[in-house]
Amino acid sequence: MNETLEMTSTLIVESPLDGEMIASLTVTTDTEFDSILNNAIEAQKKWAILTLKERVQVFYNYLELLKETKQELAEIVHVENGKTMPEAVAEIEKSIELTEYTCSLPQVVRGDMQEVSNGVWCTTSYEPIGVVANIAPFNFPHMVPHWTAPNAMLLGNAVIMKPSEHVPLSAIKMKEMLEESGLPAGLFGLVHGDKKLVEKLCDSPIVKAVSFVGSTPVAKIVYARATSNFKRCVALGGAKNHLLVLPDCHPEMTANNVIASMSGCAGQRCMAASVMIAVGDVDPIINLMKKEAGRIKAGENLGAVINKDAKERIEKYIDLAEKEGAKILVDGRNTTVANKKNGHYVGVTIIDHVTKGMAVATEEIFGPVISIIRVKTIEEAIELENNSPFGNAAAVFTQSGKLASKIIGEFDAGMVGVNVGVPVPREPFSFAGWNDSKFGHGDLTGDASILFWSNLKKITTKWAAESKSNWMS
Ligand code: NAD
Repeated sequence: MNETLEMTSTLIVESPLDGEMIASLTVTTDTEFDSILNNAIEAQKKWAILTLKERVQVFYNYLELLKETKQELAEIVHVENGKTMPEAVAEIEKSIELTEYTCSLPQVVRGDMQEVSNGVWCTTSYEPIGVVANIAPFNFPHMVPHWTAPNAMLLGNAVIMKPSEHVPLSAIKMKEMLEESGLPAGLFGLVHGDKKLVEKLCDSPIVKAVSFVGSTPVAKIVYARATSNFKRCVALGGAKNHLLVLPDCHPEMTANNVIASMSGCAGQRCMAASVMIAVGDVDPIINLMKKEAGRIKAGENLGAVINKDAKERIEKYIDLAEKEGAKILVDGRNTTVANKKNGHYVGVTIIDHVTKGMAVATEEIFGPVISIIRVKTIEEAIELENNSPFGNAAAVFTQSGKLASKIIGEFDAGMVGVNVGVPVPREPFSFAGWNDSKFGHGDLTGDASILFWSNLKKITTKWAAESKSNWMS
């Protein structure tokens, strides 16, 4: 018998809330990988010949199912990722909004048309690319797959999704629900595992485009690998987001927004505030922030961080800042939750008098920690923000429209806010940062996704035989 035996390995999924095992999956084997990709090719061929209006019917059904199942889906996110239930519900609501946008695409995606010469017409059409791959991080297990897959599929592509190995359950449920909504089998393939699967997706000649969302070091690896194989790629990376707080800001609104931004989802958002640049005397705001932080309790309105490694990494950053002379105003180290002693919790942490050379000033911490850097002038504040290698988000808190418009013009970041701590552009606006927060051209969501997930075909037509010949003939 000439049978190749393949080793299978297991993926154990634990809940960050209490460290309990919640699932055990088999890592996708080479044989399964090949068959998922080949099925995707076949499914895509049949899907691509349908019209947008035919394809969208599946997403109308899916949208209804998402709404009906919102609570159950949020429960999955809560347990596998560790964020609070209200945060998980908000994540599903964002997936719903993303899918609503997908459902609007047949009204939006139209080619252009012009008579470019006597009797000669040019038209354009958005054509599918083929089989594409989406690689997702752990922090939004349901929303990030919805940033990419629904639009990519509505535009006629098949998608191979590689969720984070820490949180694969939301993507499994997504696949079930898409198929229940009428999506043809094979069109949405799911592969489970870690970097080996990502490398295979970047190398496979079947995969024509890759979207990646995750940390900057991995975004660079994936972008380099996918493009060296001549694939289209946008790879979103990590972040270090700066909030500029000016003395004329609205005190309560600013304190609430800064704390909500740095602590929401336990600071595990690529849009979370990480550095607050305090311009001049903003001590009254910092005092309000301390009060606000006191209202946030781990296990109640503050979720867990993803695992033990993350908790240790975040706490090390706080230790280091303390050693380097920063002042810990609110200390979230050694936080535990009763009856969840194996959960991974870090409390809200406010570090004051951080200076620009410290690790907490420059590196992504990805936990509920804010570093306050005090400066005297707006110019110094802008310089600090501009010197960050990242460029995901930045925001300014002020009541002066004149100052705000000057500052947003000078921020070196892809998504900027005024008096908004988490300046996420909502559909139909597109999401993506700049600099080391994004590699590749284009954005992933909203209107920009239409070009990313399509090939533009340019068609020149002449039916009028009597039209005179010109250089196009
Ligand atoms: P990660 O980079 O560790 O992992 C992301 C994905 O890449 C996972 O599916 C993982 O399996 C895979 N992967 C990990 N190492 C790899 C390697 N060496 N080669 C190939 N693939 C590899 O990120 P994470 O810890 O899951 O997520 C947190 C990070 O994601 C943070 O840095 C956060 O800022 C970032 N993020 C960015 C955005 C954005 O829009 N810019 C959005 C969400 C999260």
